Amino acid sequence: MLYDTHAHFDSEEFAGDRDELLEKVHQEGVDLINNIGADMESSRDSIRLAENHDFVYATVGVHPSEVGGMTEKDIEELREMAKHEKVVAIGEIGLDYHYMDGTSEEEQRFWFKRQLELAKELDMPVVIHDRESKGQCIEILKEMDIHKGVMHCFSGSAETAKILLDMGFFISFTGVVTFKNARKAVEAVKAIPIERLFIETDAPYMAPEPVRGTRNHSGNVIRVAEKFAEIKGIDVEEVKRITTENAKRFFGIN
Ligand SMILES: [Zn+2]
Repeated sequence: MLYDTHAHFDSEEFAGDRDELLEKVHQEGVDLINNIGADMESSRDSIRLAENHDFVYATVGVHPSEVGGMTEKDIEELREMAKHEKVVAIGEIGLDYHYMDGTSEEEQRFWFKRQLELAKELDMPVVIHDRESKGQCIEILKEMDIHKGVMHCFSGSAETAKILLDMGFFISFTGVVTFKNARKAVEAVKAIPIERLFIETDAPYMAPEPVRGTRNHSGNVIRVAEKFAEIKGIDVEEVKRITTENAKRFFGIN
């Protein structure tokens, strides 16, 4: 059992072989894939991919770097899209003060809160992106009383992980945990109970060792499971089974 909880197959890097590649990785052992919306268009594309492949589920949401020019009309459309039977969460949403292209911190906070309100209204889990937000992302999640969430591509410390666990969050790691300089990530994985971990690729980004720097795809999610097994000293089959069960329960998939 393997569940890649975060991938972007709508991305143009997959323009030439998207559907074949999805079917191939599924045949080779990836049971479930979430295609993650990062703007309005990719949210629509994610639903389309979920309609075309029974093992693909979708999330809808606007990434903090993409909220420039967002309107209430977009919130309305997200609300409609979220009602689709294969949409399992609102995301990825959050704060990213590293890539500020065409957005301001204030605008990012506004639309982050607006999308969190939508998730609460619909009683749906959230997929969170937090990069260099100076602690403001977690502050907002607390302030808005959000407990059903996953922190994706976690890059924080074991101490930050503990705060998120106390809030009820799940924590997800990409292939970054396999990198040679990933000491902080390894410490964090050690500190998080396996029952609270997800695995993801963030494909086409973040390809793991030994294929670092190449186009990433869901077939590589096994590398994250293997690394967890090594860090925690448990069998990789156990890691695959438990992380899949964690994510299925969280995203409401039978
Ligand atoms: Zn992503």
